[in-house]
Amino acid sequence: MDLGRGLDVADYSTVNRVVRWFINLRWIAAGGVLAALGVAVAFTRLELPFPVLFLLSGILACVNASYWLFFHVLRREQLAQGELAAFLSVQVAGDYLLLFFLIYFTGFLENPLVFFFVFHTLLTAYLFRTGTALVFAGGLVAVFAATVGAEYAGLIPHHALFPSADPAAYVLQLPLRGAGLAGTIAISAYLMTSIKRRIAEKGRRIEIELDRYKTLDRVKSNFLLQVTHELRGPLAAINGYHEMIARGITGESTPRTLETIGKASRRTDNLLTMIDEMIDFAYMTAELRPKLEAAPLAVAELIGETLDACSALADTKRMRVQTHCPPGLELRANRDLMRIILANLLTNSLKYSPEGSTVTITAGADGGEVCLMVKDEGIGIPPEELDRIFEEFYRTRRARELERDGTGLGLSILKKAVEDLGGRIAVTSEVDKGSSFFIYLPQDGPRTGGTTP
Ligand code: ADP
Repeated sequence: MDLGRGLDVADYSTVNRVVRWFINLRWIAAGGVLAALGVAVAFTRLELPFPVLFLLSGILACVNASYWLFFHVLRREQLAQGELAAFLSVQVAGDYLLLFFLIYFTGFLENPLVFFFVFHTLLTAYLFRTGTALVFAGGLVAVFAATVGAEYAGLIPHHALFPSADPAAYVLQLPLRGAGLAGTIAISAYLMTSIKRRIAEKGRRIEIELDRYKTLDRVKSNFLLQVTHELRGPLAAINGYHEMIARGITGESTPRTLETIGKASRRTDNLLTMIDEMIDFAYMTAELRPKLEAAPLAVAELIGETLDACSALADTKRMRVQTHCPPGLELRANRDLMRIILANLLTNSLKYSPEGSTVTITAGADGGEVCLMVKDEGIGIPPEELDRIFEEFYRTRRARELERDGTGLGLSILKKAVEDLGGRIAVTSEVDKGSSFFIYLPQDGPRTGGTTP
């Protein structure tokens, strides 16, 4: 039988750990047995076959030393998966054998430590596949039955642990004790294997459910992407018509009409921004989005582009945007992701700050990282909500009061973009004083080269 194939613990590092643990445990067992024998010889009148027992504990120590040499020194803990499984199986079989002889020569079923076989059976059933575990348990029960029978029939000697015990009474009790132990071993093996089977079944069901949720999530993302794309076209067209009316291309309009068109235009602008955020979100969370290539980018140029894109909002609120960026500062990143990051930070700072206040964008490099800081004098974020603002659809109460339109998606998109670029985010904020968002990005680009989904 290929014992290695019977192993049930799939994870290589776990088996490696178990092997190490077994070797250490065996040192303790060998030491414990030797110490117990020493005490028994020195302080008790037990009439056990001590030379055999010392020999067995010596064998245990030598066998373990060879395991240790093979595993730690010769193979430097680098056994192939199959070898490791076979090595573990040999150890378990060897342990059964040595434990059996130790127990047999110290009173056999008289010895309370005979129940160590139950722990051994439980461990075997945990580590090995059901078939292999049952073979181990069945073999053990058969060996016990044969030994009980042989002792009962007087074919082999009984090494009494307690000399005062009545040998005739022991022989009479043998079948019952043997049956009790065999039953415990068989039930332990069965219970452990069936518990394991149930856990494995539950694991499989969880995996199926997870797959189902992933599929649903993909369907949701695709649906969101399609719907938002469909909505964007007509909305952009409506905005175009508003502009035509406002510019007088469709004919003269009254001041009231122009005012109403202005309001309608602002609302459709907001709607378009929300739809763009949803498109970005659906795109960033899509599992199979294409790999985004990284390229050297001038940070000052990126900041300038973001300022241009947000200038209308800044002008409407009469806000100042100060920038501090060392000339020539560059980083390797994907341009679209960088635009998403900067635009989200600046738009939020403009949205959640009072009219006439100042937003400061500072960029710098340190220790292979580029740091971008966007600081505002706005409403701030309560400390208990700081961790939540990066969650999808989360908006603070004050933000909802101040700005009705908002999806709560911007920062979760930003977080994904920063992660894709191999960076990290930090925020500090004080209610009614302002917030500072810090983005740290590796200057040489994400470790994998390009950005991956
Ligand atoms: P949205 O702006 O659409 O609400 P975001 O994901 O961009 O969504 O932001 C999530 C929330 O984080 C906002 O609703 C707001 O409560 C908070 N927030 C983000 N940036 C700032 C900021 N600069 N100042 C105050 N609150 C902010």
